[in-house]
Amino acid sequence: MAPELSLVIPLYNEEEVFEILKARLLQVLDNADISMEIVLVNDGSSDKTEQLIKNLTLLDNRFVGLSLSRNFGHQLALSAGLKYASATKAIMILDGDLQDPPELWKPFYEKLKEGYDVVYAIRANRKEGFFLKMAYKVYYRIMKHVANLKIPIDAGDFCMISRRVNNLMIKFPEESRYMRGIRTWIGFRQTGFPYSREERKAGKSKYTLRKLIQLAYLGFFNFSDFPIKVIKRIGYLGIALAFGYLLYSLYMKFFVHEEVPRGFNGILFAVVILGSIQFIAIGLIGEYLVRVFFQTKGRPLFLVDWIVKNSSLKKYEYDHHQNEIHTVKRKENVHSNQESS
Ligand code: UDP
Ligand code: MG
Repeated sequence: MAPELSLVIPLYNEEEVFEILKARLLQVLDNADISMEIVLVNDGSSDKTEQLIKNLTLLDNRFVGLSLSRNFGHQLALSAGLKYASATKAIMILDGDLQDPPELWKPFYEKLKEGYDVVYAIRANRKEGFFLKMAYKVYYRIMKHVANLKIPIDAGDFCMISRRVNNLMIKFPEESRYMRGIRTWIGFRQTGFPYSREERKAGKSKYTLRKLIQLAYLGFFNFSDFPIKVIKRIGYLGIALAFGYLLYSLYMKFFVHEEVPRGFNGILFAVVILGSIQFIAIGLIGEYLVRVFFQTKGRPLFLVDWIVKNSSLKKYEYDHHQNEIHTVKRKENVHSNQESS
């Protein structure tokens, strides 16, 4: 029978924290007064994480294990977990490094029962270093001003969503996925829940600076057309400046009888700065274009290697009868027939 609540946890090279996580989760499961399942997603780890998940899920049927065919990144690993979460009432998303306390399922679930569809966690304080903290702060505040959508400040992926919101989220066809943005876009009744974000219990952050910047880009370019508008405004400003300068030089020539442009430093500066602005402009347009490009390919969002459910292992063969490809939209009806199996 389907449980009431699913916890979805993506794991990428988390062998160091795995035993600590497992102990905490077992405690949560044993103390829970509702039926609960925990979906562990292996996001193409290169360490023992895959084996650890397999072992645990084969032994304990309250766990569901899912392994992707390679590293697809946090946001897609989450999407995979959401797709395989079978809870009837609510699904909670959290990190595997215990920065998000799993015990919070209880107050979150209380909120949900009050009639909310989304309870998202707000980081009241962060334990990261000073530089990263500032970067987060600045980013969230910029996003607040430029996004076409009011994505809550300091809210991450840690949240609980109702079954119906999950059903909607897994149907979103976006290839470039910023889950907290999609979650906000969906709407209904949402509320924040402040919590203190703990330190990672073991291992290192799996978000390299590059991945972190990519995530920032995801939010920026998927939920805002502000950069395009900025380019346009710079263009207008340039034209205004040029005309101002033209008028100024005409005035100087006819009334003061002096030719304005003497050296070519000014010209050089103008050429270089305008050239650079144009490169940036092309790059910004490219950010949007590249998203269109990848979206039109219609590739699956992720591929599953194997899944362990009810302590039995199923390897994905992707043959004719079981070509469960995780793209959304096209052939929707065919998919939903197969999903029930
Ligand atoms: N993660 C993942 N795929 C990745 C990177 C990270 O599934 O490519 C998982 C990771 O194992 C962890 C969660 O996403 O459970 C958050 O990552 P992390 O704690 O490293 O990020 P941070 O908290 O430092 O932002
Ligand atoms: Mg973390």
